[in-house]
Amino acid sequence: MKNTRDTLQKFLFEQAPVRGEIVHLDQTWQSVLDRHDYPKLLRDLMGELCSAAVLLAATLKLQGSLVLQIHGKGAVKLLVVECTGSLELRATAKWEGEIVSGTLRELVGDGRFVITLDPKDGNQAYQGIVALEGESVADILQNYMTRSEQLDTRLWLAADGQRATGMLLQKLPEQKGHDADAWDRATQLANTVKPEELLSLTATELIHRLYHEEDIRLFDAQGVVFNCSCSRDNVARMLKMLGRQEVDEILAERGDVEVFCEFCNEQYLFDAIDAEAVFADAVSNNATRH
Ligand SMILES: [Zn+2]
Repeated sequence: MKNTRDTLQKFLFEQAPVRGEIVHLDQTWQSVLDRHDYPKLLRDLMGELCSAAVLLAATLKLQGSLVLQIHGKGAVKLLVVECTGSLELRATAKWEGEIVSGTLRELVGDGRFVITLDPKDGNQAYQGIVALEGESVADILQNYMTRSEQLDTRLWLAADGQRATGMLLQKLPEQKGHDADAWDRATQLANTVKPEELLSLTATELIHRLYHEEDIRLFDAQGVVFNCSCSRDNVARMLKMLGRQEVDEILAERGDVEVFCEFCNEQYLFDAIDAEAVFADAVSNNATRH
């Protein structure tokens, strides 16, 4: 995709068992930031998680979505980033008090970090627990990938108020004729990249800066966009699950039921007549099923 910096660029070492990806989020990241005012430190951590989610989603042949979800017990209460197989991203966070210093692990405290691969086709989702081991978002996720997926994976992530970026390198099974030292060389070179470079260089500039001596195959860049999958239908389903009694109580108290999407700030309003329709629908669905 041209004329957009919201891209995922995949590349491959022709003579070595190494593949890579670089993600740049500009407009997509602004769309996340436009909707909530996050403390700077949390914002940057969230940007790193957004980049990581896109990089990881792109390594999988994913139909549904990949969700990185942290339930924190420290200053950060919740961090959710979701990226679909077609690279549509949404993210949100909840926190308490001031956030001025600390690593992700410190801010989350004794929390839980779960990675979910939801095929969204009715089949069961896969969930893995990500140990909060490591100082940075990249450390934590690459430890997880190396241990649970048995894939040597390295991540470099950076984010600020303008953009979120990242690079991933993954070691592929070795084949005859492959250059066995290439993995070490590739990761050592990548370790020389400063966050400012990650944020400012385009994918092709970065690849050239690092690997101009290697034979690199570049794939077509893919676009990444902000998109929230919330809908009035989904909210209606949620109200059905909540139950008629609960909904009636809210209606009696407030006149209507107001639901905000945490991801995109969309407001869904159901008055008594809407609620009637939601539950009438439930009744007729049950009637036809039984
Ligand atoms: Zn939404």
